[in-house]
Amino acid sequence: MVCPKCQREIADYSSYCYYCGTRQARAAEVGAPPRRLHRSVVDSKIAGVCGGLGEYFDTDSTIVRLVWALVTIFTGIVPGILVYLAAWLIMPLGPAYMQAPAAAPGPTQTPHA
Ligand SMILES: [Zn+2]
Repeated sequence: MVCPKCQREIADYSSYCYYCGTRQARAAEVGAPPRRLHRSVVDSKIAGVCGGLGEYFDTDSTIVRLVWALVTIFTGIVPGILVYLAAWLIMPLGPAYMQAPAAAPGPTQTPHA
């Protein structure tokens, strides 16, 4: 890639230009994958909508559920349920890599002799 300031060739993964020290915008893009709003695969009570919101906003999903429940109650129940159903339809299920690891083997059941 080419530094936008001094127009010299630098390595693609560089965060800063070696010649003029300008921070390269590219470094930020390469970092973490873009944050997507999706239903949680792991943290789910009904459809994972609140869990997904909790993951997205980096908040405890229990707080999201509590707020959702309160808003639902104070708006006459139906709107909250409709919004939940809409979110269920609209939000894609979270990516597979966020899935919980396969159920850990419980205490091995050794047959009694
Ligand atoms: Zn430069």
